[in-house]
Order: sequence, then C-alpha cells, then structure tokens
Amino acid sequence: MSKEKLKREALDYHEKPQPGKIKIVPTKAYATQRDLGLAYSPGVAEPCLEIARDVNNVYKYTAKGNLVAVITNGTAVLGLGDIGPEASKPVMEGKSLLFKIFADIDSIDIELDTKDVEKFIETVKIMAPTFGGINLEDIKAPEAFEIERRLKEELDIPVMHDDQHGTAIISAAALLNALEITNKKIEEVRIVVSGAGAAAVSCTKLYKAFGARAENIVMIDSKGVIRSDRDNLSVEKLEFASDRKIDTLEEAIVEADVFIGLSVADVVNPAMLLSMAKDPIVFAMANPDPEIGYELAVQTRKDIIMATGRSDHPNQVNNVLGFPYIFRGALDVRATKINEEMKMAAVKAIAELAKESVPEQVNITYGETRLAFGRDYIIPKPFDPRLIYSIPPAIAKAAMDSGVARIAIEDWDNYKEELLQ
Ligand code: NAP
Ligand code: MG
Repeated sequence: MSKEKLKREALDYHEKPQPGKIKIVPTKAYATQRDLGLAYSPGVAEPCLEIARDVNNVYKYTAKGNLVAVITNGTAVLGLGDIGPEASKPVMEGKSLLFKIFADIDSIDIELDTKDVEKFIETVKIMAPTFGGINLEDIKAPEAFEIERRLKEELDIPVMHDDQHGTAIISAAALLNALEITNKKIEEVRIVVSGAGAAAVSCTKLYKAFGARAENIVMIDSKGVIRSDRDNLSVEKLEFASDRKIDTLEEAIVEADVFIGLSVADVVNPAMLLSMAKDPIVFAMANPDPEIGYELAVQTRKDIIMATGRSDHPNQVNNVLGFPYIFRGALDVRATKINEEMKMAAVKAIAELAKESVPEQVNITYGETRLAFGRDYIIPKPFDPRLIYSIPPAIAKAAMDSGVARIAIEDWDNYKEELLQ
C-alpha cells in the first residue's frame, strides 16, 4: 500500500462511523423502572454497603476485576517520540481494543498531562481503586523505569510497562526457539545488543534470567559500545557494560551468534552479517524500519534466522502476543503483581506453542499453506486461537506458585473452557 493510501485509510478508519476505536456498553438489563432502581438508586446502595463492609467485594459487585487502565503521558509514543498526551490517544485506544478482542479485558486509555515522575505516580495511585490492573505505555526512559518500579511496589494490583516487558517476553520466546533450531545454548552464545533504551535493557535482563552470560553480552548505544571504563553510565547501562576493549558495532558483531536490534534503522550492513558466527540469529526490531532490511539480510546469509517488528515478514516480534494474555491470567487469580516468575512462564508458554502443529485456521488467516516450527516460524502468529487458552493458565499458575495470587484456580479444565468462551 502506498504511503498516501495508508494515510487516507488510517484517518478514515479512526474518524468513521464515529470518532475513536472503543466505547462503553452496559452489561445489565436497563429497560424498566425496576431495572433502573437496581442499577442506580435505591438498589445500588446494597453493593456499596457490601463493599464498604469488605473491600474485596469490589471484585464481586463491580467491573474492577476485568478493567485495565492503559496509562501514558505521551512522552515516547511509537517511534514518534514526545508528541504529548492527546496525540498519544489513538495508540492507547488501540491498545484497549487489543485487550478486548484478544482477551476480553475491558480497558480504558488514560492520557496524563505531566512529565513529573512524582505527579505521575501519585495520580496513578489515586485512581488505582478503579482498576484491576495497570498497563503503562509509551513513557520515556529513564522516567519509565522509576514510575514502574514505584507503582509495582506501592500498589496491590498488577502493573506492567509493556514497552519494556512485552518486547522482552516475546523476543525471549523467539530467542529460545531460534537457539533450539540452531542447536546453540543460551549460556554459550555471544549476544550483541544495539540500543540501550527501555526495550533493549529489559530484553537483555530477561535473556540473562534465562541463562545468557553477562560476559558474552556487548551492548551499544548512540555513542558506541558501552564499556565499563566509560564515564557517566546510568545504572541500567552499567549492568551491561563490557570489559572488552572495543568501540563499535562493527567490532562487536564479529563472531557473534545473536544480534538484538532495539535502536534505529540501518545500523547493520551485509559485511557485518557476514562476520557473524554460523547460523546467526538476527532480531532487527527497530520500528518501523529495522536495523537491516529483511530481504537484504536473508539474501546475505542463507543460514540466518531473522525476525523484525514488522507484520509483512515472517517472525514478527509483536507485543500483542503477550500483554492481553498476561493480564488475563493475572486478573483471573487477582494477582498483586506481574513478577519475574510470571514473565518467564509467559516466555515458555509462547515458545512452546510455536512448536505445536499449526491449526488450518491460522494458515488461512495468514494466506500460508503450511506454517510449521522452523526458521520462518519461531513464534506464534497474533491471530492464533490457541493463545487465549495457552498463555493465561501458565501466568495464573506462576502467580499461584510464586505467592502473588489472591484467589486460586482449582479446576484447570474448566478455566480453559471459560477462556474459550
Ligand atoms: P529508547 O528508550 O528511546 O532507546 C533507544 C536506544 O537506541 C537508546 O539507548 C539510544 O542510545 C540507542 N541508539 C540511538 N542511535 C543508535 C545507534 N546509531 N546505534 C546504537 N544505538 C543507538 O527506545 P525504545 O523504546 O527502547 O525503542 C528502541 C527501538 O526499538 C525503537 O525503534 C522501537 O520502535 C523498537 N521497539 C520495537 C519493538 C518490537 O518490535 N516489538 C518493541 C519495542 C521497541 P542512547 O541511550 O545513547 O540515547
Ligand atoms: Mg508502546
């Protein structure tokens, strides 16, 4: 599609038949005087009193337990940067739409007009009683790190900054599978990470949790290789500072097994790809244009496993495989957190699903004939009907096992049935 055509279609889509992408729909009868007397005064006082007596009843009598807020201040929107709260609203509404269609979670977007970390935190804390969970979105680093850390600590509902953890979870699943296909061990591979922002840092942390060794990782930011002898490194960057006496991506990528790109377009060239080890794994995830184009990369190395953030090539690293299902599982056991155990459970569930035989429905949706686990299919596709009953149970179970679930699921077959409805 031409740029001009896409622009027209996208604007029309958002404008018509009514502005925006979501609306609120009542779930109870409201046709008669009696219905209204129950929905509102005088009947509504009864659930109020029950909740006043025991605050946990808020989950029984209101929509809180299935309601997630998507909250931003518009400071790091897509690749568009700091475009402000109003301009970020289409993205946040889009996220709400995805929560609804993939996991039947009701979600409302909230755009805050502040760049002040304390004000942001305070505002979210004040509104937290309304929600079952909070998805932080498109907030600039390093502010995003502090905001998420504090809210996780200070609230008793799940809080997740999706730009950090969503990408980390999906790309880790893709990485585990790519390593399996190429017969490499995560403890042994040399990993080069281009980018040291919110996404790169959280991805690399998660790879370490799965066994990647600090001494095998080199991270690069806009100034070059992050070396331990460099001045003024943030705590986030310091964790990945390398002792190797090299300065450039060109040097770092020689003999590397894995390239992770969460930076900017076109920083990798064919010569660099050719210098990588056998069966290189290249996740060029800068959006909308990757660190090296898909076609160029697969032409340069026949033995490559290549993933991007784009939907027009195989192996799209897409957060939508994660957040709807992670929150689904967390809400269903009323988890107080989304912790490391739950994130790791999501990685394993997503990775495992890619290895199972693909339903015909998915092939048809994507115009494919036979998707099967391999170099061009290392992670499931977003429109895979199995995601909804594969991932939430893994999350719920991890929440229960790690002690952050407030209610337990006992009948897992029944839970799976409920997820399918
Ligand atoms: P961010 O916090 O702004 O970080 C960007 C990082 O890139 C910074 O560390 C910056 O270095 C570094 N950088 C800039 N120019 C560079 C260069 N020439 N070489 C190496 N590093 C360079 O942004 P983010 O949220 O982490 O996102 C980064 C990229 O990943 C974006 O393109 C985004 O679209 C993409 N992304 C993709 C997915 C996905 O595919 N699912 C998910 C998340 C993000 P300094 O620290 O020195 O400024
Ligand atoms: Mg985002």
